[in-house]
Formats: sequence, structure tokens, C-alpha cells
Amino acid sequence: SKPIVAIVGRPNVGKSTLFNVLAGERISIVQDTPGVTRDRIYADCTWLDMSYTLIDTGGIEPDSKDIILSQMREQAEIAIATADVIIFITDVRQGLVDADSKVADMLRKSGKPVVLVVNKVDNFDKFMPDVYEFYNLGIGDPIPVSAASRLGIGDMLDEVSKYF
Ligand code: GDP
Ligand code: MG
Repeated sequence: SKPIVAIVGRPNVGKSTLFNVLAGERISIVQDTPGVTRDRIYADCTWLDMSYTLIDTGGIEPDSKDIILSQMREQAEIAIATADVIIFITDVRQGLVDADSKVADMLRKSGKPVVLVVNKVDNFDKFMPDVYEFYNLGIGDPIPVSAASRLGIGDMLDEVSKYF
């Protein structure tokens, strides 16, 4: 059967934007307020001659006791358990934050292959210097992308499909 790819990361890093780019449709709701994608959302996608199932998740806020945020985290945990490969997405504009490190710990425990993506790199010259700090997560090479401007998507999918 088709490999399953889950997009995980903190709220607002651009998971749903990336999901829609990969799905080629506006299936997932993109918004500035966290908590919009509470359920897991699926799409059948292709890259070159490969098919895969993509899952968007609401986001992981590691320590939150808020009911909605903990439901989102639960859905993300199910997606991680279901996935063959995980796209772990972070935000260059916010930089590396403690919550990213906690998500990285969760992902390491899952034992699943992880592709680390740094989103919102809308201008490579301007933002590349800020991408390097994500090496500190110790979860692999950070791949710069701009979901909004559709930059770096092919390089990202090349990495993801190595695990198919
Ligand atoms: P999610 O909560 O992780 O699903 O994030 P969303 O996809 O809903 O995006 C959150 C906000 O970030 C929205 O305002 C998006 O328009 C914005 N965003 C997403 N991707 C990019 C990007 O590549 N560059 C910039 N500048 N903004 C982005
Ligand atoms: Mg979302």
C-alpha cells in the first residue's frame, strides 16, 4: 500500500499551507489563529511516479493543558504512529523555540524517519543564515522551504521519498 507522510510541528508554522501545496488543492484551512485543524486531514498525492497519502495535523503545543490544544496533540500523535515518514516543520521567522525541541524529542521516540523542514524562507539570501540554527535540534539537515512561495518543495520531496 501507499506510504503515509504526516506533517507535524507547532501551530502556525505553515503545515496546512504546505499540505495544500502538496495536495494541489485548498483542502486544509490556513489561518493565523492556532487550533483550526483539529482533526487529521488526508489527501492522496503524487511525486514523480510515486503515490503517497499525506496527513495534515492541527499542531503540537507540547505542554499545553488547553482542551483544544491537547486534542490537537492527540491527533498529531495518532498521525505520527500511522506515518511511514514525518515532515517536521518549523518556522524561520520565529526561529528555533523550546517547543520545537520538545516536538523533536517526541519524534525521536517514535523511531520514524523524520525530514526536518524550515518554512517561511521566502527569500533564500535573506533567511538562509537563520536556517542553520535548526541543526541544533539534532534531527538531521534542515531543508529550507517557502510553502507560500512554493520554494524548495522539490528538494524536500526528494528527501521524503527516499523513505518510500
Ligand atoms: P499551521 O497552523 O501550521 O497549519 O499554519 P498555516 O498553514 O495555517 O499558516 C499559518 C500562517 O503562516 C498563515 O498566515 C500562512 O499564510 C503563513 N505562512 C505559511 N507558509 C508561509 C510561508 O512560506 N511564508 C510566509 N511568509 N508565511 C507563511
Ligand atoms: Mg493547520
